[in-house]
Amino acid sequence: MQHRKQKEFKPKFEVKTTAENLQAAIDGESYEVATMYPQFLTDAKAEKVEKSFTWAFDTGKKHLECYKAALAALQMNAENTLPFEYAVCPVCGNTYDKAKMDEKCAFCGTGKDKFILI
Ligand SMILES: [Zn+2]
Repeated sequence: MQHRKQKEFKPKFEVKTTAENLQAAIDGESYEVATMYPQFLTDAKAEKVEKSFTWAFDTGKKHLECYKAALAALQMNAENTLPFEYAVCPVCGNTYDKAKMDEKCAFCGTGKDKFILI
């Protein structure tokens, strides 16, 4: 058997600052909320399968607010004001500050006992 020498894996990305990474996340979620999900919803309504896209759209809006809050806290040197732990709905991705969870997911109705803590 011939032994092949493996190439060294060199990922092409650069490590940026936390503020730059949060801004990139904000830019990505802003695109999703402003452009991507509205188009998905239009298509999904035409095919009568819009419920999961509505959840994803609402979750994207919530993630955008989380990223904006994190960047604002970072810029004010107030990271200690951010949630310590998050809870994520396993059905739709809705994300809560663990200390401020609803009894059921506000988007899809899944009980908080099913949420994933991160
Ligand atoms: Zn949910």
